[in-house]
Amino acid sequence: MTTELRPSLPPLRDVIAAHGLQASKALGQNFLLDEQLLDRIAAIPGPLKGERAFEVGPGPGGLTRAILRTGARLVAVERDSRCLPALAELETAFPGQLRVIPGDAMEIDARAEAGDGAHVIANLPYNVGTALLVGWLSAGWSPLPWWSSLTLMFQMEVAERIVAKPGGDHYGRLAVLGQWRSDARIAMKVHRSAFTPPPKVMSAVVHITPKPAPEGVQLKHLERLTAAAFGQRRKMLRQSLKGLPGALDALEALGIDPQRRAETVSVEEFVAAARHLGEAAA
Ligand code: SAM
Repeated sequence: MTTELRPSLPPLRDVIAAHGLQASKALGQNFLLDEQLLDRIAAIPGPLKGERAFEVGPGPGGLTRAILRTGARLVAVERDSRCLPALAELETAFPGQLRVIPGDAMEIDARAEAGDGAHVIANLPYNVGTALLVGWLSAGWSPLPWWSSLTLMFQMEVAERIVAKPGGDHYGRLAVLGQWRSDARIAMKVHRSAFTPPPKVMSAVVHITPKPAPEGVQLKHLERLTAAAFGQRRKMLRQSLKGLPGALDALEALGIDPQRRAETVSVEEFVAAARHLGEAAA
């Protein structure tokens, strides 16, 4: 780490006090203040010097500083206008490297703002985190997404649902969506005491990288299948899929036993069934 990437900045606790940034529960504010931990999170995507990065919810700017220290060019969207003066200080401290967009991450066009190839890195507000993830995993793939990687802090339970393998309670729609054309792993577990204020539960950083989608499969067919199958996850597929035209035929064609339950069906099996549904509908 070169010194020129480490401009001298006030400690984050002083920034929070100076700008009156008492954490708002409604905005999902649990701040990270440990610079070493923040540098470790910013290192998860790999070297970022000269790369584009996108952050949701910079808040007082702890993770923002860590991303900027890597040499990335960062676009950050923050909904809490109280944080904007502190973030303006970072724009000055890292000239030309940071652009802050005041606004709601659910409403902006992240691709247009951040640019193709950006690495998304965020300690997400828990109330919109899953919705943002589902959007990034769903929209704008052709065949790969606009982002190069996602490095996202979630509550542990959500992180486990994203990386879950078949056979357990965590395995469901989010696991299939997160794994059918991406690799998803828990890169770091983070104790609740690392946050100010500490949340009730543990957290984890999930790292997701896209991979080419399996041929001939449309997301809409996969979504219909997983919605029906996991909508009644304790029932046999024969029951849960009976309202979805073509689904039971797909199971039969693929030799998937309709007496199985959704939570035993692998991502690859769901993908194969979705392909079959699409071919039958064509
Ligand atoms: N990045 C900071 C950190 O790690 O210390 C703050 C993380 S805090 C968990 C979540 C941040 O997201 C807060 O700054 C909050 O104001 C912001 N936020 C909440 N909802 C948002 C939304 N819809 N769009 C953009 N930012 C949002």
